[in-house]
Amino acid sequence: MKDSTGQPSNAQHRHGPDEEHHRVEKTESEWQENLTAEQYRILREAGTERAFTGKYYAHHETGVYHCAACGQALFGSNAKFESGSGWPSYWEPVSGNAVERVVDRSHGMDRTEVRCAKCGSHLGHVFEDGPQPTGLRYCINSASLDFEGSE
Ligand code: FE
Repeated sequence: MKDSTGQPSNAQHRHGPDEEHHRVEKTESEWQENLTAEQYRILREAGTERAFTGKYYAHHETGVYHCAACGQALFGSNAKFESGSGWPSYWEPVSGNAVERVVDRSHGMDRTEVRCAKCGSHLGHVFEDGPQPTGLRYCINSASLDFEGSE
Protein backbone atom coordinates (compact mmCIF):
# COMPACT_ATOMS: atom_id res chain seq x y z
CA MET A 1 0.00 0.00 0.00
CA LYS A 2 1.23 3.49 -0.82
CA ASP A 3 0.12 6.80 0.57
CA SER A 4 -0.60 9.92 -1.47
CA THR A 5 3.10 10.72 -1.77
CA GLY A 6 3.75 7.36 -3.37
CA GLN A 7 5.74 6.12 -0.41
CA PRO A 8 4.99 2.78 1.19
CA SER A 9 2.66 3.37 4.10
CA ASN A 10 2.14 0.89 6.87
CA ALA A 11 2.62 3.04 9.92
CA GLN A 12 -0.81 2.55 11.46
CA HIS A 13 -1.91 -0.74 9.97
CA ARG A 14 -1.84 -3.50 12.55
CA HIS A 15 -2.17 -6.85 10.88
CA GLY A 16 -2.02 -9.62 13.41
CA PRO A 17 -1.31 -13.19 12.36
CA ASP A 18 -5.01 -14.10 12.44
CA GLU A 19 -6.20 -10.97 10.72
CA GLU A 20 -7.02 -11.64 7.08
CA HIS A 21 -7.26 -8.98 4.46
CA HIS A 22 -10.71 -7.49 4.74
CA ARG A 23 -12.58 -5.45 2.20
CA VAL A 24 -12.89 -2.57 4.65
CA GLU A 25 -9.65 -1.59 6.32
CA LYS A 26 -9.12 1.45 8.50
CA THR A 27 -6.45 2.54 10.91
CA GLU A 28 -7.27 2.20 14.59
CA SER A 29 -7.57 5.99 14.88
CA GLU A 30 -10.05 6.01 12.00
CA TRP A 31 -12.14 3.37 13.74
CA GLN A 32 -12.03 5.38 16.96
CA GLU A 33 -13.33 8.46 15.17
CA ASN A 34 -16.29 6.60 13.72
CA LEU A 35 -17.39 4.53 16.71
CA THR A 36 -18.51 5.28 20.24
CA ALA A 37 -16.09 4.30 23.00
CA GLU A 38 -18.29 1.29 23.86
CA GLN A 39 -18.54 0.22 20.21
CA TYR A 40 -14.78 0.56 19.78
CA ARG A 41 -14.08 -1.51 22.88
CA ILE A 42 -16.33 -4.31 21.65
CA LEU A 43 -15.87 -4.22 17.86
CA ARG A 44 -12.14 -3.48 17.68
CA GLU A 45 -10.90 -4.85 21.02
CA ALA A 46 -13.15 -7.91 21.23
CA GLY A 47 -14.92 -6.68 24.34
CA THR A 48 -18.29 -7.84 25.60
CA GLU A 49 -21.23 -5.75 26.74
CA ARG A 50 -22.87 -6.71 30.02
CA ALA A 51 -25.78 -9.10 29.61
CA PHE A 52 -29.25 -7.53 29.53
CA THR A 53 -27.82 -4.05 28.92
CA GLY A 54 -27.70 -3.89 25.11
CA LYS A 55 -30.35 -2.31 22.94
CA TYR A 56 -31.26 -5.43 20.94
CA TYR A 57 -31.48 -8.46 23.25
CA ALA A 58 -35.24 -7.91 23.69
CA HIS A 59 -35.80 -6.29 20.30
CA HIS A 60 -38.45 -7.92 18.10
CA GLU A 61 -39.01 -5.76 15.03
CA THR A 62 -38.82 -7.09 11.49
CA GLY A 63 -35.72 -6.15 9.55
CA VAL A 64 -31.99 -6.68 9.23
CA TYR A 65 -29.16 -6.19 11.73
CA HIS A 66 -26.06 -4.67 10.13
CA CYS A 67 -22.45 -4.41 11.27
CA ALA A 68 -22.17 -1.21 13.33
CA ALA A 69 -18.64 -0.68 12.01
CA CYS A 70 -19.02 -1.14 8.24
CA GLY A 71 -22.75 -1.51 7.55
CA GLN A 72 -22.70 -5.00 6.08
CA ALA A 73 -25.94 -6.98 6.59
CA LEU A 74 -25.31 -9.71 9.17
CA PHE A 75 -28.47 -11.18 10.70
CA GLY A 76 -32.16 -11.15 9.80
CA SER A 77 -34.92 -10.78 12.37
CA ASN A 78 -36.34 -14.06 11.01
CA ALA A 79 -33.37 -15.92 12.52
CA LYS A 80 -33.50 -14.15 15.92
CA PHE A 81 -34.68 -16.09 18.93
CA GLU A 82 -35.02 -15.72 22.68
CA SER A 83 -31.99 -17.39 24.21
CA GLY A 84 -32.38 -15.95 27.70
CA SER A 85 -28.69 -15.03 27.62
CA GLY A 86 -29.18 -11.27 27.66
CA TRP A 87 -27.56 -10.84 24.25
CA PRO A 88 -29.26 -10.81 20.86
CA SER A 89 -29.16 -14.37 19.54
CA TYR A 90 -29.57 -15.74 16.04
CA TRP A 91 -29.52 -19.25 14.61
CA GLU A 92 -27.90 -18.20 11.33
CA PRO A 93 -26.38 -15.15 9.58
CA VAL A 94 -27.97 -13.67 6.45
CA SER A 95 -25.43 -15.59 4.38
CA GLY A 96 -22.64 -18.02 5.05
CA ASN A 97 -19.97 -15.52 4.06
CA ALA A 98 -21.29 -12.55 6.05
CA VAL A 99 -19.33 -13.62 9.11
CA GLU A 100 -16.09 -15.43 9.79
CA ARG A 101 -15.31 -17.77 12.67
CA VAL A 102 -12.07 -17.68 14.63
CA VAL A 103 -10.91 -20.02 17.39
CA ASP A 104 -10.84 -18.08 20.68
CA ARG A 105 -9.08 -19.61 23.68
CA SER A 106 -9.04 -16.40 25.74
CA HIS A 107 -10.33 -16.21 29.32
CA GLY A 108 -9.66 -19.93 29.87
CA MET A 109 -12.48 -20.94 27.53
CA ASP A 110 -12.59 -22.72 24.21
CA ARG A 111 -14.95 -20.67 22.08
CA THR A 112 -15.55 -19.69 18.49
CA GLU A 113 -15.41 -15.97 17.92
CA VAL A 114 -17.62 -14.43 15.23
CA ARG A 115 -16.33 -11.48 13.23
CA CYS A 116 -17.78 -9.42 10.40
CA ALA A 117 -16.30 -10.89 7.22
CA LYS A 118 -16.20 -7.51 5.54
CA CYS A 119 -14.31 -5.45 8.12
CA GLY A 120 -13.03 -8.01 10.62
CA SER A 121 -14.77 -6.40 13.60
CA HIS A 122 -15.63 -8.55 16.61
CA LEU A 123 -19.33 -9.39 16.88
CA GLY A 124 -19.60 -12.09 19.54
CA HIS A 125 -19.36 -15.89 19.68
CA VAL A 126 -21.20 -18.86 18.21
CA PHE A 127 -22.23 -21.85 20.31
CA GLU A 128 -23.70 -25.22 19.40
CA ASP A 129 -26.69 -25.04 21.73
CA GLY A 130 -29.07 -23.14 19.47
CA PRO A 131 -32.46 -24.12 18.07
CA GLN A 132 -33.16 -26.00 14.85
CA PRO A 133 -32.71 -25.92 11.94
CA THR A 134 -29.03 -25.16 12.54
CA GLY A 135 -28.56 -25.91 16.23
CA LEU A 136 -26.36 -22.83 16.41
CA ARG A 137 -26.56 -19.81 18.69
CA TYR A 138 -24.85 -16.71 17.41
CA CYS A 139 -24.48 -14.68 20.61
CA ILE A 140 -23.87 -11.12 19.44
CA ASN A 141 -23.24 -7.83 21.22
CA SER A 142 -25.93 -5.23 20.58
CA ALA A 143 -23.17 -2.63 20.33
CA SER A 144 -21.84 -4.43 17.25
CA LEU A 145 -25.17 -4.12 15.46
CA ASP A 146 -27.27 -1.47 13.73
CA PHE A 147 -30.87 -2.45 13.06
CA GLU A 148 -32.72 -1.39 9.93
CA GLY A 149 -36.43 -2.08 9.97
CA SER A 150 -38.48 -3.25 7.00
CA GLU A 151 -42.18 -3.67 6.32
FE1 FE B 1 -18.22 -4.95 9.46
